[in-house]
Amino acid sequence: MKKIIPYYLISIFLTIIEVQTVISAKPDYVVTGFPVKFILDELTHNIADVSVLVPPGASPHTFAPNPSDIKKMEKAKALFYVSEELDGWAVKIQAKNVIRLMDYLPAEYKMNFAESYRHGNESHESGSDIIDPHFWTDPLAVKTLVGKLTEILIRLDKANENNYRNNAKVFIARLELLNLQIQARTVQIRGKSIFLFHPSFRYFIKRYGLNYGGAIEIDPGVEPSVRHTGDLISKIKKSGVKAIFTEPQLNPGPAKVIAESLGISLAQLDPNGGVAGRNNYFDLLFYNMNVLIHSLK
Ligand SMILES: [Zn+2]
Repeated sequence: MKKIIPYYLISIFLTIIEVQTVISAKPDYVVTGFPVKFILDELTHNIADVSVLVPPGASPHTFAPNPSDIKKMEKAKALFYVSEELDGWAVKIQAKNVIRLMDYLPAEYKMNFAESYRHGNESHESGSDIIDPHFWTDPLAVKTLVGKLTEILIRLDKANENNYRNNAKVFIARLELLNLQIQARTVQIRGKSIFLFHPSFRYFIKRYGLNYGGAIEIDPGVEPSVRHTGDLISKIKKSGVKAIFTEPQLNPGPAKVIAESLGISLAQLDPNGGVAGRNNYFDLLFYNMNVLIHSLK
């Protein structure tokens, strides 16, 4: 006997397929590094796919995309990056939509490099025309971007407008709370000098009224000069701090040499995260706050 599938069953089956297609058609956003991913994660939760190019342990400053990364960036619905000073390799990509986060940071929140900072092959002695890209270490700077990013996401994905707006409200409230928590906890290290591995936490230091001592590698990934290291050693000695910092994405060699010569300890700050315990915006900030407190108080 020949089995005939009733028409209504076929029609139900086709409807299920259609519904599933709509559900799985999430917009795909590509971001350069984890800090950008963490911000987008809070705004998108599970309504978009956010994929990150710079792997954990690599620095966005020294990263170079391979052909499959480039293809991914070109195919994505949108590409998000910070600025030429951090992930400038994203600038050359012909993506469908390119969002440069630094364009949306209000001028009064931007920090200039106050010390000599080599950019590409040029040397900027004053550093005054270079914007420090590490804005995400200040939760209130991140807060200023939320409204603008929400509008951009809605433009890209109108169907999820309400979700983006609700996520933005929650994110803003959590950023305000985080700011108050860090403010209260960092009181105990006010006045201590912080010597960074590269100038990655100046926004955090400024926001919480801490004292920036200097950085071992002004140009990330490039060994500091003997003169710069010598100057820094005398500054660290004078400050009396018990620790200086390395970062997981950059070779700690130059910091080890300084710490050994002064008999002080090394602790690890992480501006980028993407590993266990530092895999969302809030955990990343708390991790770094705790490292600073434990090693300097
Ligand atoms: Zn950096």
